[in-house]
Formats: sequence, structure tokens, C-alpha cells
Amino acid sequence: MALPQPRSWVLDIPLYQGGKSEIKGVNRVIKLSSNEAALGPSPKALTAYAAANTLHRYPQDGAADLRTAIAEIHGLDPARIICGVGSDEVLCLLCRAFAGPGDEVIHTEHAYSIYAIFAKSVGAKPVAVPETDLTANVDAILSAVTPRTRLVFLANPNNPTGTYISGAELNRLRAQLREDIVLVVDAAYAEFTAAADYDDGFALAATTPNTFVTRTFSKIYGLASLRLGWGTGPAEIIGAMERLRPPFNISAPALAAGAAAVRDVAHTAAAKAHNAKWMKIAVQRLRGLGFNLGGDSANFVLPEFPAQGPKSAAAADAYLQSRGIIVRRVSNYGLPNHLRITLGNDEDMTAVLDALAAFMEGRS
Ligand SMILES: *Cc1c(COP(=O)(O)O)cnc(C)c1O
Repeated sequence: MALPQPRSWVLDIPLYQGGKSEIKGVNRVIKLSSNEAALGPSPKALTAYAAANTLHRYPQDGAADLRTAIAEIHGLDPARIICGVGSDEVLCLLCRAFAGPGDEVIHTEHAYSIYAIFAKSVGAKPVAVPETDLTANVDAILSAVTPRTRLVFLANPNNPTGTYISGAELNRLRAQLREDIVLVVDAAYAEFTAAADYDDGFALAATTPNTFVTRTFSKIYGLASLRLGWGTGPAEIIGAMERLRPPFNISAPALAAGAAAVRDVAHTAAAKAHNAKWMKIAVQRLRGLGFNLGGDSANFVLPEFPAQGPKSAAAADAYLQSRGIIVRRVSNYGLPNHLRITLGNDEDMTAVLDALAAFMEGRS
């Protein structure tokens, strides 16, 4: 008798590799491996979370109150927002709604690994497009389009490269991309970006029939554990996704904490200022140690180590772990010689920058 078989494409899906969070034998690790918030969540979000304790009741379905809060803060139409279990769920719903077996889903060379995973999960083919200097290349994306292309995922700024494309380039991409292709702008790090020519994509999501923007509560808002994200785009796209969204997908504590977090604009501003302060210091110190770096538009740095010898990324990673510091190797992103280091709190940043200096100078 034949045993149950998953659909033909399922066993080819790579398992997502999350950031390490433990080192054997070390009690207090410094975890700078998952781009989590340096300052933690808003105290108001924690209070709202604790107060949402009616655990025998189903949560508000459709997240109306949270969508209202998001819409108020960002100047959006709440009817054109959908909330997900992390922005990952929103990205997954986009794949389920728009792609299937035989279709193609474009992402850039060193893009967030979830895009390829979700494309494969619906039987579609992920197509990786070369970048230029660790940055998305609009012309390369446009030349990768085929009649089977259904979605283009663009993380802007991107993880793990930390680079972004300008508003002009983003608009050019949309203008030259076929109309039936959904352009998904994953702006998980938008809140950290200060560049004058950066465009968060909200205008395109509001005015074009085929652009969708996703955001997350996992990064600047410090609510990664609650699994909360959202997206905005045309009513027709939202309508399709709503039909696939599992009912009651967001728990009541997450709904409450998310609304309080997005409304606490002072906390968000403090988190952004903290990040900007350490980005400047980290870039300066790492350049001083001779490192080439990825972009500085998110909440992490990406130093490049020599490919061979005692100063390799693998050796640096081992050295940092021996000091209780966990950063992220990014070989699975096609970057075997880089480490991605999340900007943490003051104490963690001093520790990791001092440790890297000691490593490069050969002290122990
Ligand atoms: C961290 C991250 C997300 C957020 O994922 P969640 O599911 O919301 O935690 C989305 N996109 C990128 C590029 C990220 O780095």
C-alpha cells in the first residue's frame, strides 16, 4: 500500500534557519542575531498586553481596532490593511493568492530567505536576480521577468544587506513592471531609515492596482515574540488575501500590544535615535578596523571578513561566541564572508565592538 505523500514540491522547501539564541555553557548571552529591538517594546505595549487577559474569548476577528491604530499613525485607509501572524504570514498569503505550480516569483540575490520558501510552498519557482554592490538592481529585476512571473518581492531596505533603492528607482520599477505582476515592497526596516530619497511605498500601494507594502511589529516595535505584522495595498488584493487568512489569526494580547506600540510614537522615535547613534559609531569603528560594510539603512551592520585564514567570518563568529556574543552567519544568503550584527543596547554594542577590535588585532 502506498503511504501518504506530500505534494511533489514540498520536500524541496528548505527549512527556515533562525538566529541562534543559546551558547552551551553560557548563562547570559548577548544576542545580536535576529535584528530584535535594542530597547525592547514600549512600556505601554506591555501594559496593554497584560490587560488583554480574557483568554477564554476569541479575539476580535479582522483586527479592526489595530487596523484603526495603524491607519491613524500612518495616514492610511484601515479598510486597505490586513494583519498577519508576523509579516511572514502576510507574505505567505500573497504567495497563496497570486502564485501556484509553474509560476515564477522574483526576489533579489541576497534577499530575505522567506520569499523563496513561501514561493516554493505554493509550488512556484523562486527566481533570484543578481544585485549590484549588495543592492537591488531594477534593470536586472526587469530582465528576469517572464510570462510566468506573478510576484516580485523587494525588501527595502533589505535584510541581510542593509541597502535600499531610492524612491525614484522604486517608482521606475513599478512603472516598467508588467501590470499583472504584484510588486511587494517588504519595508520591515522602514522605521530605521532616515535617507531623504527613501520611499516607504505607501503612495504606490494607495494609487496603483498592483503594489503591496508589508510592515512588521518584530523590529523597531520590539514585539517579535507576539508574531504580528501587516500590509496595505489595493482593495482587490486585500479582498483576495482576506479569503485565505485564517480566522482569528491574531491573538488578543498581540492585537492590544500592537495598537499601543504603534501609538507610542515617542518610544518609536527613541528607538530610531538609539539606532542612528549606534549605527554611526559602529560604522566608524568597523571601518577603522578595515572592514568593508553592507548598507546602514536598517538595525544591523554587515562587515566583510577575509575569505581565508585566521580572520575569516567563521573564525570571528567562533571568537565572538567564546565571549558569549551571538551574531548571524549569512552563508545561506550567499554571503559566506560576512557576519550580520544587530545593533543592540549600549552595553551589548560596547561589548561586541570591543570584541571585534580584539579579534582583528589578534588579542585574546
Ligand atoms: C524580520 C523581517 C521581517 C519580519 O518578519 P515577521 O514575520 O514580521 O517577524 C520581514 N521581512 C524582512 C526583510 C525581515 O528582515
